[in-house]
Order: sequence, then C-alpha cells, then structure tokens
Amino acid sequence: MVADATVVEVDALTVALIPTKRQMKYVLVTGGVVSGLGKGVTASSIGVVLKACGLRVTSIKIDPYLNTDAGTMSPFEHGEVFVLDDGGEVDLDLGNYERFLDITLTKENNITTGKIYQSVINKERRGDYLGKTVQVVPHITDAIKNWIESVSSIPVDGKDGPADICVIELGGTVGDIESMPFIEALRQLSFSLGDENFCLVHVSLVPVLSVVGEQKTKPTQHSVRELRALGLTPDLLACRSAQPLIEGTKEKLSQFCHVPVSNILNIHDVPNIWHIPLLLWNQNAHEAIMKQLNLSICNAPNFQSWRKMAESYDNLTSSVKIAMVGKYVGLSDSYLSVIKALLHACVACSLKPSVEWVAASDLEDESARSTPQAHAAAWKTIEGCSCILVPGGFGDRGVPGMILAAKYARENKVPYLGICLGMQISVIEFSRHVLGLERANSEEFDPETPHPVVIFMPEGSRTHMGSTMRLGSRRTFFQDLNCTSSKLYGNSSFVDERHRHRYEVNPDFVETLESAGLKFVGSDETGKRMEVLELPNHPYYIGVQFHPEFKSRPGKPSALFLGLVLAATGKLQALLNKA
Ligand code: GLN
Repeated sequence: MVADATVVEVDALTVALIPTKRQMKYVLVTGGVVSGLGKGVTASSIGVVLKACGLRVTSIKIDPYLNTDAGTMSPFEHGEVFVLDDGGEVDLDLGNYERFLDITLTKENNITTGKIYQSVINKERRGDYLGKTVQVVPHITDAIKNWIESVSSIPVDGKDGPADICVIELGGTVGDIESMPFIEALRQLSFSLGDENFCLVHVSLVPVLSVVGEQKTKPTQHSVRELRALGLTPDLLACRSAQPLIEGTKEKLSQFCHVPVSNILNIHDVPNIWHIPLLLWNQNAHEAIMKQLNLSICNAPNFQSWRKMAESYDNLTSSVKIAMVGKYVGLSDSYLSVIKALLHACVACSLKPSVEWVAASDLEDESARSTPQAHAAAWKTIEGCSCILVPGGFGDRGVPGMILAAKYARENKVPYLGICLGMQISVIEFSRHVLGLERANSEEFDPETPHPVVIFMPEGSRTHMGSTMRLGSRRTFFQDLNCTSSKLYGNSSFVDERHRHRYEVNPDFVETLESAGLKFVGSDETGKRMEVLELPNHPYYIGVQFHPEFKSRPGKPSALFLGLVLAATGKLQALLNKA
C-alpha cells in the first residue's frame, strides 16, 4: 500500500509533497442476544480474511469490566489470563488475535473500564480538568476515543508504521449497563470518521426451537433495534446458527434489520474454528467489508494456506493422547493457549490431539480413600496416555497430585512437559524422591519448609497481587547447545519467551540437584534464574519456567510442544539426530 500524500503550498514558488497519516479504518464487532457467541473468533476471523486481501490488520479488545486488567481474575470464571510480550495480563481473546493474525499486541490493545476510569481519575487529580465537572460524557467517552485512536496506530506485525485496519471487539452484549460509555464513544467515533472509515459487524444468534424447527429471527431483530436505539447501525450481520441459514431467513433478517442480504453472513457450526475464516471468505465477507470501507482488494488475495490448514485438519485420522494434569480442568478455556499449542504441534505432525483431562487432586493418595472411583479412573487415564503435561497454576490445591504425575513420568520414562508451576513441581518431586528431602517444597505452598527448593525471587512485590509478577518476555540463554531444548529451538543459543510467575528454583539447591542428575540447561542473563531443566537419559523430560504456549501459532508450533508430541509418538530422536 502506498502512503497517501497531500500537496502543500510551502511558499509561492515551491510545492512540496508531504506524506500525511493515512486514515485508519475500523471494523467494530459487537454482540447481541446472548454471550458466548464466539465474537472473539468471529472478529479475529474477519481479521484473517482482510489480511488475506493484502491489508495490515491490528486489533483492540474492549472489556467493559472494572478490573484494570485480567491478571487478578480467576481462570475458573474467565478462562486463562493471556500474557503478552510487554507483560500485559489480558483477556484470552487477545490470544486468538495473536494466533490468527500472527501479530504481537501490547497491553494497551486491551481496553477495560478500569483502565479508562483510572486514566481519567489520574488526570482529574493532576488538575488537568481544573474548573470542570468530570463526567462520563464527554470525559470518559473522549478518553475511550483517544485510546482507540492512539492504540490502533501501534505497529503489531513487525513492519513500520500503522496497520491499515483495526478490528475492535466490544465485549459483552449490546444493552449491558457496563458497555454504555463504550457504545456512546464508538457512536461518536463512527460519526466523526464517516461511513467509509467505520464498518459495524453485529454478531447475533438465530436459534431453532425444536418444536417448530423454524429459524427464528426475532432475537436478532431485537438486538439490532437495541443497537439502533443507541445510535449505531450494523453494516453487516454475522448470524450464529446450528445449521446453515435458509434464504428465507436471510431475507427476513434483511428486511427487518435494514441490512442487504449480501451483508448477512452466516456462521453455522463447523468441525473446527479454522473453518470460520473459510466460511466468511466463501460468503465474500471481505468484499462486503472492503466495499463499505471503500478499499480495493490487492491483486493477488491469498487465502490458500488458510483453506488448506482448515480442510486438512478434518482429514487427520491418527491421534495422540496427552494427559493434562491440572487444577482447573472443569473449564477448558482455563488452559486455552496450552490446548492451542498442543493443537499446532499435533497438526504439524499430522495428528489430532486427544487431550485427556486429569484433575490433579484425583491422583492423590487421599482421593484413594475419599473418592476411590475417581482416583482409579485418573490413574487409568494417566497410564493410557503417551505423554503428560503439567501446566501453570497458582495455589496449593492439586500440587501433591501433580508431584505424583511428575514422578510417574520420570520413573516410567513417559514424555513430560512441565510449564512454570509444572517445572517447579518437577524440582520438588526430584528433591523429595531422588535427593530424599522429604519435606522439600515451594515457599508458595509451605512457607516453613526446611528445604525451600522453590523460592520467591522478587522482581515484583510481596504485598500487591495485581501486576507484580515476573511478567512478559525475558531471554533464556542455553548453557550447552547440545541439549534437547536448544536443538528444538533450532540450535539457538537463546530464546525469548513469556513469563508469569513469582517463585523460582532456589539457586542454592542447583548444584545439589545437578549432581543428582537433573540438568538446568537454560537460565537468564545473570545465570541465577533457572529457566529450563532437562533429565538426561529420559526420552523427553523438560520443565520450563516460562510459558511457551503463548507464542505458538498455527503453522508455527512452539518448539517444546512439538518436542513433546514427537517424543510421545517415538519420532523425536530422528529429528534431534538431524539437528
Ligand atoms: N505459582 C507459581 C509461581 O508464582 C507458578 C506460576 C505459573 O505457573 N504461572 O511462580
């Protein structure tokens, strides 16, 4: 894309061409009727089809809750906390954007009510509004507009200069009290930008009541009416449904919602989420959006690779069983990025992941007494899997069960990947059962332990819980390139991965642990913070203090997840021999 330029008269004789800032175009995605419609996936899929047309795409997620960020929210309630390079603890939808669009977002790309009010109140305290009454309109709404406009211009795809299009997802459902200031700010923004710079896609639901079997348009009609009452008019509708919409339903929606049939997209249930961009592409969503935004498609739109990926996944026949031993196994969103990273790695090996959830507490000896059936079932699952993954976590619930899973993996030479807490678990397990330090523990779980093999190493604060951890991208240096992890990372001497933790391996125990056979093969630049451990003479036993799952992408699987899947299927050695 060529930068716009304006002819400016400098003086009577000279005329200079001075590049001006291109006007950012916005696609706003709102949701109606019910929550959980997959607005995030729809919005990121819109990004994918626009990117395939040659546009550079960025995104903003608006969460109308009062928390400043997602860092203090429970994964039980809200799904995983996604971590960015800059240490932002954000909503998991930002992970969808990063994965689908292969971009690197900043914490500012996640706007919350908390952040907006905090910035306005800080300004008020500084005296910036001196003499004025500070109000939701215009002060909060202005802050929202300014935030959107400045954040949308941050480059996120590794290239210089702002993107062409910013996809904004407004969390919640239209009509919620919490989202009102955002709706009003977006209404003002759409008015000031003009139609050709602002496109609104409203995601809604078309249910079928089983008795009649008819596709019902009324809920969508109501939510569009609600949107209009707030001053926003949808340009496109994205209707979620179980089965494809019939023509009559689309015509009815068009008539009552004032949206042309060509702009009514249907997202019906599909075998995997990679099909959503494909669905949108097949319905020419990109053309409808670009027409609205007065943009032309580049000469060679390229959607082939995405199409291939979505379709080839459906044809995979073999699978690999992975035991996920965690605490939050009731809600799979709690470990969303880990699940995605496993998916990317499996697909790279032409396998389907078969994730077997194991509640860590069911593995514990105590559970053999209190819930013997669950205990037996959990161990049967572990024994039936080809590898074990212990993901990150906080708090002591399930820790003894995770220790037993790590012990089982070590002793039975079952491939093991321990992430963050999972790495600390392997250190505790090894200290207890190999070094014989029976009460070895992390200070997090037993502040009085005589053998604190995992301790608090402050980069953060001991007193405040929000945003005080060791967060974001840090560099890990490999001491010896002849280790499995460095080989998997392409024989690299270092790697940058994302972190989110307070506790770390106690440097005072490193020598003892190493002399008993556990190898710390990667550390930070000071050599004090242990980042990667391996167990030689084991097919694959790796613990990492960082979270490799956050940087895994479809088609670019994370090295350590790939290693786990290869080891689980007996193919790792062949790859390492080549490295
Ligand atoms: N609770 C551990 C810590 O704070 C592990 C954190 C995690 O797994 N993300 O260090």
